[in-house]
Formats: sequence, structure tokens, C-alpha cells
Amino acid sequence: MKGYEAMTVLQQQLRQAIDEQQSSLLAILSQLVAFQTVSPPARNTLEIQNYVKQQLIEAGFTVKQQSFYDQDSLVSGQLSGDAASDHHSLLLNGHVDVAALTDLDHWQTDPFQLVQHGDELYGRGVSDMKGAVACFLYLFQLLKQLDVHLPGDLRFQSVVGEEAGEAGTKTLLEQGEKADFAVVGDTSNMAFQGQGGVVTGWITLKSPHTYHDGNRVNMLRAGGGLKAASMVEKMPVVIEALQKLEHYWAVTKTYKGFPAGTNTINPAYIEGGVHPAFVANECKLWITVHFYPNETIGQVTQEIEAAVIAAAKADPWLKETLPTFSWGGDSMLVDKGEVFPPLAIDATQPAVQLLKQSHEQQLGAAPDINMSTSVSDGGWFDFYHIPAVTYGPGQMAQAHSDNEMVQLSQLLDYTKVMADFIVTWCSQPKA
Ligand SMILES: [Zn+2]
Repeated sequence: MKGYEAMTVLQQQLRQAIDEQQSSLLAILSQLVAFQTVSPPARNTLEIQNYVKQQLIEAGFTVKQQSFYDQDSLVSGQLSGDAASDHHSLLLNGHVDVAALTDLDHWQTDPFQLVQHGDELYGRGVSDMKGAVACFLYLFQLLKQLDVHLPGDLRFQSVVGEEAGEAGTKTLLEQGEKADFAVVGDTSNMAFQGQGGVVTGWITLKSPHTYHDGNRVNMLRAGGGLKAASMVEKMPVVIEALQKLEHYWAVTKTYKGFPAGTNTINPAYIEGGVHPAFVANECKLWITVHFYPNETIGQVTQEIEAAVIAAAKADPWLKETLPTFSWGGDSMLVDKGEVFPPLAIDATQPAVQLLKQSHEQQLGAAPDINMSTSVSDGGWFDFYHIPAVTYGPGQMAQAHSDNEMVQLSQLLDYTKVMADFIVTWCSQPKA
């Protein structure tokens, strides 16, 4: 048989096997759901990562496992292609940590046990995103079983920490893991999704001196003579400057696919003062900044600093002790900071077009292409110049919710699209 025909036969065989052996998909998903990988508190993923590693080894992957935080690890695997140097490589990415259970009393089933009602599968993480990870592992199993040898390299990253803004994916990409294209299987209801960026920051006001509460009278009373201020009382100057900038951004900046004003600055959390016997000598505001794919972290943080400093300079006390800024971080739990870079979608990219074709063939309609209202690890691929798309099963309304659900039929559709796409993309010679 010629190459093309052989490929089509193979894709048909895969499609058939995906339906026939769906009990294996369910078995993998129930295993994944049973690991209690809730984050926060995190530090609970060694066992699930050992399981993933084992699955990859059985499917013929070369696997690397590295420690991340204590009791957390990152797994990356490669199924080496037969003619890798001149064929396309593909990287699939998924996180195995799941959102915290904040409303356990609303669950009708055990969140760590996969429960099936007809086409509906219930369990923590089935939508976000153990469902997609199960599809990937299931597909790798079938590739092995059908003795499929791809010309290009197929890679898989099983990361942790995504739910707590921890830099699992960033760590692997920083180490040089890459491919000609990447698919992040995070919750997108099988739409092609890009995203805006997020950066968190701390704005700190600090008094050069600390005063007993008894001095307050001299800070306020006419003729009191003490030039000092409470940092708690000065923070509204900062908040007001942020609100003005947020409004200005909403009016002046737009990006296709986002409702106007999505670029928000949220004054999310505040801490300050010592205790009631003191005048507050310090106050820190923790903010969340959402920005568009055509902006960088450097640009938006600079705009914020300029707006806040200008407001501070107009304040008789703050002008002499200007606010300071600290941006981002590698973990919400350890650094109290996170960064999710934006991800733009280039619909003309050859891999995106092929994936679209595979999707259309399976579902009979073109995929939605839109911008996520949330953020995932997809942005790190854009940041490291790897063309990528976020494309996964499961619905945003189910992610993080009680009685989290995904449809088995959607998992099967997703596996079939990915099977078709992997075979096509990894069989194509590099341009
Ligand atoms: Zn997710």
C-alpha cells in the first residue's frame, strides 16, 4: 500500500479500536480520579505521576520524572519517531492536579470515585482535566497495541501545580522541551482556545518610621506637627489610581474574541498594620491583572506602576515614600504570585488547520475558535515560541464545580480527533 492509503487504514483501525475498547478508557479515568490530587494543598501527586509514568513506559515511551515540590513531581515522555529529524513532532500537555473541593456537601457521589450514569461520568477532575489525560493515555495504549510507528516524535507532559499557579509546564519548557506544535488538553469543550494573560502583583506602602497609636493625634490635629501617615489609610490612593487605569483600559483597549473590559485589575487582597496599639506602618495590596494577547507582562506592569506612582506623587505624604511593586511568581502557595502568559491562536498555522480537519471529520462541523475566560498552561507555549492551542474535552461550567461531569461520548470523540491528528501531523515531513 502507498503511504497515504496505509495511513487511512490505520486511522480507521484506531477509530474502531477507540469505540471497541472504551472500557479501558473508563478504567484509566477511574484510576486517575481515585488519586486525591487536590490543589491546594498540593504536594500529593507522586502516586498519580508514578501511575502515569508506568502507563507511558508500557506504551513504549522513554520517560523522565523529576521532583518539583516536596511530594510533587513532573513527568515527561517521548515516543521517538522512526524518521524524527525530518518529520513533525507533537507535544501533548496535561495537568493531573485538580481543584479544591470547597462544597463537599453538594456532591451526590464520592468525588474520588468515577461514577457513570448513562453517558455522564462524575468525579473530581473529569472535566478539568483528568478526562483529557485519560484520553491521551488510552490513545498511547492503542498505538502500542496496533503497533503504530510514527515518523515524527510524540511527546507528553504530565504536569502538576496548574490549579495553584505553579510553574510545572514552565519548568519543563524552560529546560528545553519543545515540539513543532503543542496541544494543551485543558477544558475547552472541544473548542480551539487562546487566552489572555494574567499576572499577579503586590503593591507595598511602607512608612520609614513606626509610631505608637498615641501619636495619631499629632498626625491629625491642626498644629500637631508630626508628618506621618497610616499606610492603611493611604492605600485608597493606590486603589483609586488602579480603578481609573482599569476604566481607561476598558475604554481604549480591545482584542478580538474578548468582551470589552475583560482586561481587569482586581484589588483582590489586602494586609497591613501591626495591631491596634500602632499606627499602620505598612500596607500591601495583592492585585490580579488580566491583559490581552497582544500585550506583554512588561508593558502592563509598567503602565500600572506609572499610574500608581503618578497618583502617589500627587499625595503630600506618599510623594516622599513612593509605593514599591513586586510582580508574578512561580507559585500561589510558595511565592504568593503567579503568571499565566497569553496565548494567541493563529488559524493559518498548518497544525491548527490539520487539527481543524480532524475535528470536522469526526464531529461533522468546524470547531469553535474562541478566547477562554480563564487561563491555563497554554500560554507558556506561546511564551517559549511553540505554536499551540488549548483543545480539550469538558466544560468550563463543570471545572471546579460540585458534581463535576464529563460526557463519555465527548471523551471518545476527543480521542478519535487526537488519534487522527497525531497520525497525520507526525507523518508529515517538516516544511
Ligand atoms: Zn485545568
